[in-house]
Amino acid sequence: MSDLRDFAVKGDKKIKLKSFPTKPDDSVSKEKIIKKTQANLKKMGEFQDRLYSEGKEGLVLIFQAMDAAGKDSTIKNVMSGLNPQGIDVYSFKVPNSEESSHGFLWRAIKCFPARGKMAIFNRSYYEDVLVVKVHKLYESAKIPNRCKHGDVIAKRYEDIKNFEKYEYNNGYRIIKFFLNVSKEEQKKRFLERIDLKIKNWKFSASDVKERAYWDEYMEAYESAINATATKNSPWYILPADKKWYTRYLVSEAVVDVFKKIAPQYPVLSDEAQNNLQKDKEILLSEE
Ligand code: ADP
Repeated sequence: MSDLRDFAVKGDKKIKLKSFPTKPDDSVSKEKIIKKTQANLKKMGEFQDRLYSEGKEGLVLIFQAMDAAGKDSTIKNVMSGLNPQGIDVYSFKVPNSEESSHGFLWRAIKCFPARGKMAIFNRSYYEDVLVVKVHKLYESAKIPNRCKHGDVIAKRYEDIKNFEKYEYNNGYRIIKFFLNVSKEEQKKRFLERIDLKIKNWKFSASDVKERAYWDEYMEAYESAINATATKNSPWYILPADKKWYTRYLVSEAVVDVFKKIAPQYPVLSDEAQNNLQKDKEILLSEE
């Protein structure tokens, strides 16, 4: 498995998380992959320039993962190929009181970029069907009882699917990444965060508590992915035990979505072209 298509989920069939690898095949060459990633980052920058100049379509990249799967460093790598003026990164934390007194999509809607621009979501409204599901946080939420009747999470899947369709119909593409780290690799990275002083700040006691819910999280991810993957808004379940490989597959997916958008530099009208020539003559006739 080394083709992006092997990791894409588009809603045409139900997937099992267990059948997706957390590391590359032995046949994959790290050196070649790093070179390909560099080439993709360059392509991404060129596409982003066209996207901005055309100003027709917006792009949102969503990153979801268990702790220490490498969201931050993957995002840093994507950003290294892009013009920061055309992209914003948003981190979705435990909702504050203003956020939790609104519908769960409210805070994300505010972060959608103007068309022509991009946004990266470090976590997202998917937390409302992940951590909220695992810990049944909706039970203690300040919402009317009628909103708790039936399957709250299944209703949210529907809301998300409809929301993503709405955004697509309004000129946005949303692609979603699940960085699929193994439980053993997470343990290794946690231990490193504890042992290495410069990494201590990355570790929080709640990380180990959440790890105890590993199976529940896997179930929540699997069911959220199956319920919300569509052709226009696919999920990518990417192996995350080797960061160089995750970065490559993310860059492949971003280049792929840019190819679908196919942004073009605007072509000027004949009149505007004539005006450019006149301005050129003025500039050239200067003393
Ligand atoms: P990160 O782990 O992304 O680097 P933090 O350590 O600050 O950042 O963790 C953010 C926390 O916020 C995560 O535990 C996440 O589950 C939680 N969170 C995000 N959105 C929600 C939400 N809607 N409801 C409850 N918790 C949330």
